[in-house]
Amino acid sequence: MTLTIALSKGRIFEETLPLLSAAGIVPAEDPDASRKLIIDTNHPDVRLVIVRASDVPTYVQYGAADLGIAGRDVLIEHGGSGLYHPLDLDIARCRMMVAAPEGFDYEAAVRHGARLKVATKYPRIAREHFARKGVHVDIIKLYGSMELAPLVGLSDVIVDLVSTGGTLRANKLAAVEHILDISSRLVVNQAALKLKHDAIQPVLDAFARVVGEAPRR
Ligand code: ATP
Ligand code: MG
Repeated sequence: MTLTIALSKGRIFEETLPLLSAAGIVPAEDPDASRKLIIDTNHPDVRLVIVRASDVPTYVQYGAADLGIAGRDVLIEHGGSGLYHPLDLDIARCRMMVAAPEGFDYEAAVRHGARLKVATKYPRIAREHFARKGVHVDIIKLYGSMELAPLVGLSDVIVDLVSTGGTLRANKLAAVEHILDISSRLVVNQAALKLKHDAIQPVLDAFARVVGEAPRR
């Protein structure tokens, strides 16, 4: 029985290697070096599929992959249907923040009840955040380089992931509000968890040992 694990290349792949290794799984190739989208492993029954970070939940939802690793940001935007989330892997940690140009009086803008223009790749997280605060917003969906939007008048603020804050500073923006702490989670296709239980459980247990957490059953 083949087990298929969906991963994105770059930081998630790198930070997942030690977890895979704890489960005795070693990829045959580095997806950043190879152009292959299906990567074999030392384990004859385990393969990796390399997909865009935001596509990981979709592959797992439809059972094209049995397992996947995706950021909490991606999982919230996806909605999580058909997915079981047994483990927070505590990798790819960052924070979802509201950021504004240096000197922008965010508190006043929010207090005065004017509509705030918000540019983001994360419309669901942004919409829910401002709805909880009772702030009226126009959400402008972008696919990248959010930092540019307030600099050229596309938006007042952005909602984006921040780790060191270096990109914000380089563009004279500052974080003005923390929304969520983000890390990546293991997701499992709900049907596969039952049908391939004997193959999946050892992987879950090995990952859980590394992150020092008992998998949720
Ligand atoms: P793409 O780069 O293909 O547009 P992406 O930005 O979602 O997609 P990655 O940059 O590989 O893909 O990020 C994958 C996940 O890692 C994100 O969903 C998020 O959870 C987390 N992440 C993103 N940026 C950072 C960061 N600067 N530091 C730590 N973790 C991050
Ligand atoms: Mg990225």
